[in-house]
Amino acid sequence: MKKGFLLVISGPSGVGKGTVLHDLMNTQSNLVYSVSATTRKKRDGEIEGVSYFYKTHEEFEDMISKGAFLEYAHVHNNYYGTPREFVENKINEGKIVILEIDVQGALNVKKNTDNGVFIFLAPPSLQELKRRIVGRGTETDEDINIRMTNARKELEHIKDYDYLVVNDHLNSAITSVNEIINAEKHKVFREENIEFEEN
Ligand code: 5GP
Repeated sequence: MKKGFLLVISGPSGVGKGTVLHDLMNTQSNLVYSVSATTRKKRDGEIEGVSYFYKTHEEFEDMISKGAFLEYAHVHNNYYGTPREFVENKINEGKIVILEIDVQGALNVKKNTDNGVFIFLAPPSLQELKRRIVGRGTETDEDINIRMTNARKELEHIKDYDYLVVNDHLNSAITSVNEIINAEKHKVFREENIEFEEN
């Protein structure tokens, strides 16, 4: 069996991470998506346990104190965190576990594990990013401004990632991420043992 690994994907809110990942989940074998916990309010169309596990501030802080998170961060005035147990179990089963997390979370994961592949999904421009967030129609003006300010900060961390994919055309971004995953799957060090029978 091959060792599993973490596939960390970050990028500004609205860049299209969800769309790219949705496609990957349908085409790549052996991938599992880590559902995060958050204190942010549920958006229309989101589903508890599928999009996120929705928590109150108190519940989230209780989970922090119990060490239940692999990483967590305060993003856009809310907590977001990766439940530890699910990720560890799936890695042990040889799965590729997708973490769709912000830059702070990715940097923490990088510090604490040597088993992560880090992909940054960037917009073709900030102007295009704003157009996509506004077009989604789910955020207030204040939220849009917070997300644009965060986007500028996040883009400064591209150099901390292993791979940069620009989401200019969705299909080519999906192809690039697929190619990265395929290459990473074939890394020799992921083989638990390499033996060939004589006959
Ligand atoms: P949104 O509110 O748009 O769903 O997500 C806002 C930001 O939080 C995104 O950049 C997303 O990647 C990040 N995020 C989602 N889940 C987690 C998590 O478990 N940990 C961290 N650090 N960031 C997360």
